[in-house]
Amino acid sequence: MRWTKQLIPTLREVPQEAEIPSHQLMLRAGLIRKLGGGLYTFLPLAFRALKKVEKIVREEMERAGALEILMPALHPREIWERSGRYEVLRDVMFNIKDRQDRPMVLGPTHEEIVTDLVSREIKSYRQLPVNLYQIQTKFRDEIRPRFGLMRAKEFIMKDAYSFDVGWDEADASYKAMYEAYERIFKRCGLRTKVVEADTGAMGGNWSHEFMVLADAGEDGIVECDQCSYAANLERAESRPGGASDFDEAALPCETVPTPGRRTVQEVAAFFQSPPARLIKTLIYMADKKPVAVLVPGDRDVNEIKLKRALKARELALATDEAIEQATGAPVGFAGPVGLQIPMIADLRLKGCKGAIAGANQNDAHRIHVDLERDAKVEDYADLILSREGDGCPRCDGSLHEKRGIEVGHVFKLGTKYSELLGANYLDVDGKQKPAVMGCYGIGVTRTLQSTIEQSHDDNGIVWPISVAPYQVEILVLNMQHEESVRIAEQLIKDLEARGVDVLLDDRDERPGVKFKDADLLGLPVRVNIGERGLAKGVIEIKVRKSPDLQTAPIAEASKAVLGCVDELWKDVAIS
Ligand code: ATP
Ligand code: MG
Repeated sequence: MRWTKQLIPTLREVPQEAEIPSHQLMLRAGLIRKLGGGLYTFLPLAFRALKKVEKIVREEMERAGALEILMPALHPREIWERSGRYEVLRDVMFNIKDRQDRPMVLGPTHEEIVTDLVSREIKSYRQLPVNLYQIQTKFRDEIRPRFGLMRAKEFIMKDAYSFDVGWDEADASYKAMYEAYERIFKRCGLRTKVVEADTGAMGGNWSHEFMVLADAGEDGIVECDQCSYAANLERAESRPGGASDFDEAALPCETVPTPGRRTVQEVAAFFQSPPARLIKTLIYMADKKPVAVLVPGDRDVNEIKLKRALKARELALATDEAIEQATGAPVGFAGPVGLQIPMIADLRLKGCKGAIAGANQNDAHRIHVDLERDAKVEDYADLILSREGDGCPRCDGSLHEKRGIEVGHVFKLGTKYSELLGANYLDVDGKQKPAVMGCYGIGVTRTLQSTIEQSHDDNGIVWPISVAPYQVEILVLNMQHEESVRIAEQLIKDLEARGVDVLLDDRDERPGVKFKDADLLGLPVRVNIGERGLAKGVIEIKVRKSPDLQTAPIAEASKAVLGCVDELWKDVAIS
């Protein structure tokens, strides 16, 4: 392909709207263009790369035994109401009506749709297991679409759904998908970290996320420095230390005036004590009822864990008004002693003595609080956000924080959806049983951009060979020089005959401009053909990821380029 026949609108300037390198580079290299918030057009080069990612995904899905289908993106709302998820996802779903005024939604995911299909088509254990997947556009009205393809309102997902006769069989399906994901990301040239994850709106029993480690990642994760434990911060545990006893003398609880001291910092400073000695008391509304949540003064509540511990559908911090009503004091003075609403405390507070807490009165705190002696805590659970330096919950190691981009997510769903939507089968014993499900998503467009986020330098993209729009760029320094053009054309012929995609920069631009664009575009191998080299009987080869410039005799040009290409395939080969 010739550059002058392609559409590659490269930009010199870094576009203002783009905050992270991969987004900037996709715009600058002429890969994508924005239509509106979270809506992007794929220009030809990005489309080529996307097709390559999709091909890898398809090959690995087929290899794992999944069958490709295509479901509608437009759904009757009724099916989402039937599963109860319309309530959970209504803010994220685009709601529309057809001309008969029937409520419809644009699919953010397809558990309901596929389960409905299976409930109609699969009747017997003989038809199981089955794993159905599609590569399709999803729609989500994200609160903050950003970072280009990373968080878009419309994006392409590969979603697969497995149906098995029992739990062990479902585990095997999960494992097969997990391994397929490892292969897919490796083949796309991505280094990923698998972490334990929250199951969120999907529900289900267990899930893992595939994370691309990157500073720009929106997800916080922790990993242990000694064992394989790694988890999304949303669900990460940490080893609780022993209970804190700050008060060996076991003094009785006492109320002390603390005028105007509300925050942990203010109160800790007032008592000249470490923040950890404080009991932070937060009032939440869980399914519209107030609940007091106690955590050590130096820690933050993990609302996802809290929601799970309370088995609440809805959870939000209480309003000032509700706090005053629940505690009888203005905001900033809540504490466990004498509080009349249900209380749940973090595990680390179990047995704590000599703590400082709000007194449920204006401008006052209590000291020498012995939580078990002085308050009625209903339940203890792991409620805090893990952080750098916490102990690993599985071994003696320590946890370290990293940022990650979630490119894939696998869930063990169990029978939640099959029960709700009637995906039952007739077992050998003649009994009706719900199929045991798993679901598995890959953000295909997010994966594509992640390859750039993880592989670029100051000058531009450094494409992995497997997803690069073209694998080789030939740069003819002067298109008026006939011999250069002839040699370039021969080389293209040889390479294309060997299945290598080639882009020829045939523009009438100065070499400097072409070199800059070549770096920006980041195709894996570049060949420079110019008069000066040809006079010496050589062409130049530059592998984008390495700093060295090699030369090869004209007669061996294609052999040398193919050698570089083969070498690069080793980076993305499955061992
Ligand atoms: P996130 O936590 O990033 O919002 P999610 O957990 O809601 O994602 P899933 O429902 O697990 O996403 O979707 C499967 C995959 O689809 C994700 O792993 C991610 O790669 C991709 N994905 C999800 N939302 C978006 C989006 N708004 N834009 C692009 N890709 C997305
Ligand atoms: Mg997810």
